[in-house]
Amino acid sequence: MMVRVSNFPRVSFEFFPPKTPPMAEQLWATIRALEPLHPLFVSVTYGAGGTTRDTTFSTVRRIAEETSLHPAAHLTCIGHSRGEIDDLLRQYWDAGIRHIVALRGDPPPGESYQPHPDGYAYAADLIAGIKRIADFEVSAAAFPESHPQAQSSDADLENLKRKFDAGADRAITQYFFNNHVFLTFLDRARRAGIDNAIVPGILPVTGYAQVVKFSKMCGASVPSWLHDLFDGLDDDPETRKLVAAMVATEQCRALMADGIDQFHFYTLNRADLIIGICRRMGLKPAPAAGIRASLSSGTPPVQR
Ligand code: FAD
Repeated sequence: MMVRVSNFPRVSFEFFPPKTPPMAEQLWATIRALEPLHPLFVSVTYGAGGTTRDTTFSTVRRIAEETSLHPAAHLTCIGHSRGEIDDLLRQYWDAGIRHIVALRGDPPPGESYQPHPDGYAYAADLIAGIKRIADFEVSAAAFPESHPQAQSSDADLENLKRKFDAGADRAITQYFFNNHVFLTFLDRARRAGIDNAIVPGILPVTGYAQVVKFSKMCGASVPSWLHDLFDGLDDDPETRKLVAAMVATEQCRALMADGIDQFHFYTLNRADLIIGICRRMGLKPAPAAGIRASLSSGTPPVQR
């Protein structure tokens, strides 16, 4: 298996757009708390079908205007015509946003996927469309346990290859809990000729019941050891949080020991767990000047 080794892990953080003023306050406190960790980028999700079109746009633009962070906008093609997508892409480009996380999106529960008659049918088509509009940086999704609607795991890997061939710069994976799932997938991807970055998506689990429910829909397996760890903690959020931090920290450190040096965190708009996990990975807040100097010299910007 090919692995990349570097001086320090690089991280990125994913947020969702807020629905209410208190949620916005929470998000902005989180953004400010995570900013000194100097992530490679931060991304803001998009409600499939366009339900958060305006809030995703305004959140991404505000991050670009008011912070030192590099924001990426998630964009799903489901339910949109090409014209609608292309207009939105031009708006992002005009607002100075240069990074899109390009996705197909999911139909409402119980419905099967139908491409928009005049739209981009799959993420690979969307990526090709994005590149025709402007030279955005593009991240795509990858599924270590295969996408639930894939015809086969080989067909899904072919699909990932098509996304890179269409111009994706990196793939971010669906979350997983057993590292061998990711490492085996990475190995298969390398053997299939994919040498682009495939970044593990890390989900610190605080709400175990919700994760079990969501995992059934998105095809991520939940191992029995995780169930055992959260068993009996339904009414004990403090202990759940400690367990979540331990599990995610152990997962990241084991991946680092296997040479993985980039991580994408599903933050759920909360900073404390992420800060703790990053700290144990060797990342502490650093002033902006410090990180610029260390990135150009190749030495870690953090105390270990
Ligand atoms: P695609 O790459 O288009 O693949 C979808 C399915 O179609 C796969 O089974 C694939 O094998 C199959 N397929 C692809 N091409 C073809 C073809 N030509 N013929 C037949 N089958 C084909 N959802 C949101 O709504 N908003 C978000 O912000 C969001 N962010 C995400 C971020 C990450 C990192 C990840 C991993 C997922 C995210 N999702 C988001 C969920 C995502 O939209 C769903 O998982 C969706 O079902 C798949 O998206 P995709 O881009 O991988 O689709």
